[in-house]
Amino acid sequence: MKPVEIVLVYQSLLGIYGDRGNAMVLRKRLEWRGIDATLTIVEPGDVVPSTGAVYLLGGGEDAAQISAVKGLKSDGHIFGAVERGAVLFAVCAGLQIVGNTFTVGEHDEVIEGLGLLDVDTRRGDVRAVGEILTHWTKPDGTESLITGFENHGGFTTLGPKAQPLARVEIGIGNANDGVDGAVQGTVIGTYPHGPALARNPELADHLLELALGRQLDPLPNPELDELRRQRIAHVRKHGRG
Ligand code: GLN
Repeated sequence: MKPVEIVLVYQSLLGIYGDRGNAMVLRKRLEWRGIDATLTIVEPGDVVPSTGAVYLLGGGEDAAQISAVKGLKSDGHIFGAVERGAVLFAVCAGLQIVGNTFTVGEHDEVIEGLGLLDVDTRRGDVRAVGEILTHWTKPDGTESLITGFENHGGFTTLGPKAQPLARVEIGIGNANDGVDGAVQGTVIGTYPHGPALARNPELADHLLELALGRQLDPLPNPELDELRRQRIAHVRKHGRG
């Protein structure tokens, strides 16, 4: 079987929060199950492969977001990949740029995003900084908690084609409106860094299952469960920090 290709996109622009860890988590969780995986790191100026199973975009600053959008539009391959059913997981600035529009700078210049997710981002009335805890309903209808750290000035609202990813228990999320992230087909965006997939292995496995089109065996990891339990208890007791 062909190795599962994970594509880490433009980390030199959108990588200031350690979101590259998401790529390592996906590759490792495949390897632990004996599934071959490759990691392709794409920097601005490189051709984005159209063969990827999962594409990852991370967080970054306003100026970097503009460059990333320009690069991805002129390359164009990401559109075909999503069209063919590849998974695109976008965190924070990534979520904003895959949307329809977002604003940057003091004068709130409106920038056209990739239009792969029906969301729009505008400057919020506060900056969202701190721990975030959300409730995500998995495809089987059961709930999983998502923990992470958010840091964004943009507030994101969803259009009719996108559904929220999760309900916020602690933190700001999209726009202090009780929800975080957005899902539209195989495109999933969310605000938490962490990296999000290291802190939330069930979300990592969901992306892989979506990409592979099949269920994966669980990977029990009591140490990770305990770390999650402690993080969740801490944020519930002490707030966002
Ligand atoms: N520049 C964007 C904002 O502040 C995204 C920040 C980020 O990726 N953490 O809203």
